[in-house]
Parts: sequence; C-alpha cells; structure tokens
Amino acid sequence: MTIPSAKTVTAKVLVVGGGPGGYVAAIRAGQLGLDTVLVEADRLGGTCLIRGCIPSKALIHVASRFEAMEQSLGDGRFGIALDLPPRLDLAAAMRWKDGIVDRLSGGVAALLRKAKVRVLRGWAVFSDAKTCTVQGSDGPLTVRAEHVILANGSEPVPLPNLPFAGPVLSSTEALSLERLPRRLVVVGGGYIGLELGSAFAKMGSTVTVVEAQPRILPLYDAALTDPVRRWLERAGVTLHLGARALGMEAEGNGQALVVQTADSGMIRLPVDAVLSTVGRRPRLEGWGFEAMGVERRGAFVAVDDQCRTSMRNVWAIGDLVGEPMLAHKASAQGEMVAEIIAGHRRRFAPAAIPAVCFTEPEIVSVGLSPTEASAQGIDVIVDQFPFAANGRALTLDAGESGFVRLVARRDDRRVIGIQAVGTHVSELSGEFALALEMGAELEDVAGTIHAHPTLGEVFHEAALKLLGRPLHLGS
Ligand code: FAD
Ligand code: NAD
Repeated sequence: MTIPSAKTVTAKVLVVGGGPGGYVAAIRAGQLGLDTVLVEADRLGGTCLIRGCIPSKALIHVASRFEAMEQSLGDGRFGIALDLPPRLDLAAAMRWKDGIVDRLSGGVAALLRKAKVRVLRGWAVFSDAKTCTVQGSDGPLTVRAEHVILANGSEPVPLPNLPFAGPVLSSTEALSLERLPRRLVVVGGGYIGLELGSAFAKMGSTVTVVEAQPRILPLYDAALTDPVRRWLERAGVTLHLGARALGMEAEGNGQALVVQTADSGMIRLPVDAVLSTVGRRPRLEGWGFEAMGVERRGAFVAVDDQCRTSMRNVWAIGDLVGEPMLAHKASAQGEMVAEIIAGHRRRFAPAAIPAVCFTEPEIVSVGLSPTEASAQGIDVIVDQFPFAANGRALTLDAGESGFVRLVARRDDRRVIGIQAVGTHVSELSGEFALALEMGAELEDVAGTIHAHPTLGEVFHEAALKLLGRPLHLGS
C-alpha cells in the first residue's frame, strides 16, 4: 500500500524496526486486522537477515564446502580426489550470500504487503511515547499510533581501546569482506567470534582467538565446548584464553594487536584484520528513547512477561529487552504482542528458548544444563549418548565427537534440559524444544519411533540409556 501524501500518518499499531522482532509483530498485527505501520531505516530483515544470522550461515556454508574440497586434494577423501586445489573467490561468495539476503528481504516486503502493513522507510525519532517523526526520502512524516512496538534491536559493542575502524572490524564488515585476510585475530571467543573465526580458518586465514575468560564459549559448559576447542586446535587456530586485547600499534608497514596474555605477558600479533566480537548492546541512542518516558532495566528496556514497558501501550521486544539476543525469541515476542493488542490472552513464558551455536561441530542447548538444574536445587538424572554409536553420524563422517545429553527430574523423569554437540545438531533443536514444551518424560522420547538412519536416533537412545536400556551401546 502507498502512504498518502499527508504529513501525518495515524495507525492503530506502529512498529519500529523491521528485524525478526518487528516484521513478525507487524505481519501478525496485519493478519489480525490491526491497522499497522512499520518504520525501518535500513533494509527489511534487520540485523538477522541483512548482517547477522543469514549472511553468517551462508559464509559458513561456503567455508565448509571449500574446506571439504581442500581435504580432497591429492589422495582425496571418501574416494573423491582433486588434482588441483580449489580457488576461493570471496567477492563471488559474497555476491551469492547477498543474493540470498536480497531474496529474503524482498520476501519480508511481500509478506508485509500481503498483511496490508504500511511500510515507511526512514529513521524514526520519538517526541513523546506515541509520536515519532520519520525522516524519509520525501521529507519528514509524523506518525501517531495507539500502540507502539519498539523493536530497534542491537548493535555491536566496540572495546574502548579498539574502536571499529581500519583493520578493526565488527561482524558487519567481516560479512562483506571481498578479500580474505591472511592473518585474522578474533577478539571475543563467543558466538560470533567462533562462528566467523571458524569460517575464516576453513577458507585459509590464519586465525587467532583472544578470549577474556579461561575458556571459549563460556555460555556453554566445558563438555559441550571441548569438541569445538579440539576442532579449532586441529584447524590450526591459536587460542589465547584469559587474555585481553590492549590496542593496535604500528608494525613495520602494517599493524599489530597488542595482547595481554594469561601466562606469557604482553605479546604483539601482526594482523591484516581484527574481528572484534565482545558482545552486543540494545540500540537506544539517537531516536528519542529518553522522550518516551520508558524505564530501563540495566542496559535494556524494562518489560514484563507480556513485553509491556512502563508506559501504557508501549511494548518492547527482541534484542532491545535483553538476553537471549536471538532472532527466534524476538519473533516469538513480536507475534505475542500483536496478539495481545488484538485482544488475545498471551504471556511470554516458553518452557525453553533453544540456543544454537553454528561452530564446528555445532552446539545446541535447550532448557537447563546439569549445573543449572543443580543450582536450582532440582534432583536430576543425567546421561548422554555418543554420535560414535549412530549409523547416520558415521555416514556423515561425524562420528568422531559429539553426543546428545539429557537432563531429567529424578522423581517423575520429566525432561528439563537437552544439550548436544555434533555435526548438523542444529537441525535437532526443534525436536528438543518441542519435547520440553510438551513436558515430555523420558518414556515419551523412548517410546517415539525415530526414523533410521538419522541423528535423531541419538536423542532416542539417550533417553533409553537414561532409562537403563540402551539398544545400540556395547558395555
Ligand atoms: P534487529 O534485527 O537488530 O532489527 C532492528 C531493526 O530496527 C534494524 O533493522 C534497524 O535498522 C531498525 N531500527 C532501529 N532503530 C530504528 C529507528 N529509530 N528508526 C527506524 N528503524 C530503526 N540470532 C539467532 O537466533 N541465530 C543466529 O544464527 C544468529 N546469528 C547472528 C550472527 C551475527 C553476525 C549477528 C550480529 C547476530 C546474530 N544473531 C543470531 C542475533 C540476531 O540477529 C538478533 O537476535 C535479532 O536480529 C534481533 O532481532 P530484533 O528484531 O530485536 O532486532
Ligand atoms: P558473546 O557474548 O557471545 O561473546 C562475547 C565474548 O567476548 C565472550 O566470550 C566474552 O567473554 C568475550 N569478551 C568480552 N570482553 C572481552 C575482552 N575485552 N577481550 C576478549 N574477550 C572479551 O557476544 P557476540 O559473539 O558478540 O554475539 C552477540 C550476541 O549475538 C550473542 O550473545 C547472541 O545473542 C547473538 N548471536 C547468536 C548467534 C546464534 O544464535 N548462533 C550467532 C551470533 C550471534
């Protein structure tokens, strides 16, 4: 729909931000017949689609294909041999990635049109809680709405001594590089640093990771991250744990990153690029948030379990409202808020929000880990089943490391946590989340016929093992 030329637009619902939080909220509001306007300054799709989840997974795929071909050089693998090494054209890979992004962003625009959502392009600046001005290409436009859904998302946090400039990149620039950095130092061994760092290592960069904590991916327990650490070491990635990046210094014709290590004092790492990924923060600057009278909780916008802010009929969702900063959480909150505005009774109380780290191998965590369950005083039984005993994993050359771990209450055997590490385990996250959401007990998982040969059988066997009767495990 086109916007009338009037200088003021009114709507029942105004959504700010066209990321997975905002665009889903707007589609659902439109589907429910609510007159909805969505304002987006950039392209539709937000961080996730334009410079986050999708481009990073596309790059990871390219990197894995390249690595597999490299491994086929000479004598080859699996009977496939290449006589010449593959050539990587990173600019062409980026064009392929951009094609996917364009297609998905266009798809979001079409879905919004179908839901009769009016889309305004431009930066929204609020003057009070329900009024904003959008600086579009046709001049300023005032938008007033009965309900405002804030979905402004997040931005990368720069280290004070390592601002994003020159060779110091955020994930956004790293996902648009046209030439492979020969020496890449990743500062921050969390989600982004290890997903992208592993991809660059596969493509041939010499990668070093500088992580402040004593281990990588400190969000997950060591049993889950050990296979990732082993892969990084095998891939020649150097890990400096308990280390801090101090800043850039000139080094010959180039630059070096100065690092305070845990045991060898200060070192200098000559670099072609530094990827700084030490976390993200809610985007609260530059759009009049202060004028709205909405309260914060720490760095984030304070919301209740319906995503209501402290201001009546102002809602906030997604990365703006706190951890976990994940696309599917943003979308779930967006859908819920639209339904509440339409009069449905909803609350944001998921049994679990799955988290997936697309490293090598992948990690999935849904619900409580054994340590988290113990910390909550829950008496649990825990066991795991290895990929090594699964036929499908072996056919995928993924049997070497990896397992599915189940955490269940001792008294009623209800499953309260599922974690896995292994190749392709991201695709099991839906089944894991469903099990928790449906309140599955070990017998439910054990009694469900899982197709053969699939990785899902590892989940099945983990339940059987915890019940004391695994079928495919020798003593
Ligand atoms: P965003 O996606 O950040 O969208 C906010 C939008 O609001 C932006 O488009 C912005 O332009 C717009 N905006 C802000 N202020 C204004 C204003 N005043 N006027 C107009 N427009 C405005 N999550 C996962 O679940 N899985 C992954 O695999 C994953 N990978 C990631 C990889 C990377 C490299 C990064 C950076 C993030 C990744 N994430 C991933 C996180 C995910 O991208 C975010 O959790 C998600 O995008 C948050 O959605 P959102 O709608 O809250 O905000
Ligand atoms: P992160 O929180 O995952 O990792 C940041 C890492 O930097 C941590 O390990 C931390 O200990 C380390 N660190 C902090 N300060 C440091 C310093 N001064 N020197 C060295 N290390 C330091 O943050 P991220 O990787 O930037 O990702 C941001 C968010 O984006 C994630 O929390 C996640 O919500 C989202 N994300 C999700 C996915 C996914 O779901 N697969 C992928 C990418 C990003």
